[in-house]
Amino acid sequence: MDFDLTAEQRTAQAGFRQWVEQHVVPVADANDNREQTPPDLIAKLAAPGYLGALVAKEYGGEGMDALTWGLLCEEVGRGSASLLSLLTVHGMVIQSIAKWGTAAQRARWLPVLATGETIGAFGLTEPNVGSDAKSIQSIAVAQPDGSYVLNAEKRWISFGASANLILVIAKVNEKPTGFLVERNMPGFSSEPIYGMLGFRSANIARLIMRDVIIPPENLVGKVGFGFSHIAGTALDHGRYCVGWGCVGLAQAALDASLSYSGERYQFDVTLNKHQLIQEMLAEMIVNVKAARMLNYHSAFLKDRGDPSLIMETSMAKYFASRVAAQVTNAAVQIHGANGCSSDYPVQRYYRDAKIMEIIEGSNQMQQIIIAKSGYQQHLVAKRAARRSSAIEGEGK
Ligand SMILES: Cc1cc2nc3c(=O)[nH]c(=O)nc-3n(C[C@H](O)[C@H](O)[C@H](O)COP(=O)(O)OP(=O)(O)OC[C@H]3O[C@@H](n4cnc5c(N)ncnc54)[C@H](O)[C@@H]3O)c2cc1C
Repeated sequence: MDFDLTAEQRTAQAGFRQWVEQHVVPVADANDNREQTPPDLIAKLAAPGYLGALVAKEYGGEGMDALTWGLLCEEVGRGSASLLSLLTVHGMVIQSIAKWGTAAQRARWLPVLATGETIGAFGLTEPNVGSDAKSIQSIAVAQPDGSYVLNAEKRWISFGASANLILVIAKVNEKPTGFLVERNMPGFSSEPIYGMLGFRSANIARLIMRDVIIPPENLVGKVGFGFSHIAGTALDHGRYCVGWGCVGLAQAALDASLSYSGERYQFDVTLNKHQLIQEMLAEMIVNVKAARMLNYHSAFLKDRGDPSLIMETSMAKYFASRVAAQVTNAAVQIHGANGCSSDYPVQRYYRDAKIMEIIEGSNQMQQIIIAKSGYQQHLVAKRAARRSSAIEGEGK
């Protein structure tokens, strides 16, 4: 397997890095304190085409390959996990429309999503329903004219306070279904949520839909496609972004720790001369590298369209979010009291990393999926071994 980036990917990566250094790093702590990503930063993200990175060129996007997109998520995640979540949820809407939308939906929405004129968000979670997503209580009732009347409440929706197009999953006659809900539809309202542990500038909101009339052209795919097709596509994309974003977040915490421990003196030597600190740094370095490798592997599979991609992406997200949590925890430890203060960004990294273990399917949900899939693979391997020994026996 070739782990080298192409010349174009290297150039793109350097561009992403420079962009994040210039536009994100200087404002990330202030936005976190203000609990808001302002519209001008969203406009800056749109300007180089990052919001349209995944949109096909024919619809005005960049048509970026999976690995380059992963590198963008890593760099943005390094600067701000909250801003990464915009790339994530906006991309979830783009991917769902691109894959399951009609030609008319693609023509209407992809060009404006690509430019950032329309901002997308993904509404699945409800006040009473999180991991057990199949139990959602949002209801859409089909009308004789082909429209639907939607009553729904969605909670913890990233960029729900800014988005003007929300992909909402609701049930039609018990069948989970995806709808494109526009902010200006009568009956739609949103309330910002403040005081979160992390992702504080992710413009998180509660969304309320009371008797919202959804025209038939805003149904995505078919009635009943809500989980099997639409949320499946959206969440697979979400996990891919989060996996890469966790690598960036962990790298930021590692870089900060390498710097700090090389400058701070205790007991007449810099912190990095103490072996217990070296142990922490070594663990951080190896874990960040391992998390990056798992994400490279899922990028490699994604660019090849390999069917094992979904499970590998789950594993990459699971591992990388755990690494981000461990590495940011160690970063605060290495920074001591300074790490607990707002003078250093490691406390933000630490708070944001905890969120990574909960979103896009919590780590317990990933463990359940991974263990089930591991057992299935074990059974397949066992059957194949039995078949090949039977064939060998026949040959004797
Ligand atoms: C900052 C932030 C942003 C978010 N953005 C969005 C968004 O944009 N769109 C959206 O739809 N949602 C969003 N969410 C919601 C997120 O997807 C949910 O929080 C997540 O799915 C978990 O659901 P829950 O919080 O209701 O926890 P619950 O489902 O109530 O679970 C609570 C705990 O129990 C564990 N648990 C649950 N079931 C099991 C089981 N069977 N076995 C073992 N353990 C179990 C969970 O892992 C978790 O640790 C966001 C959340 C946060 C914090």
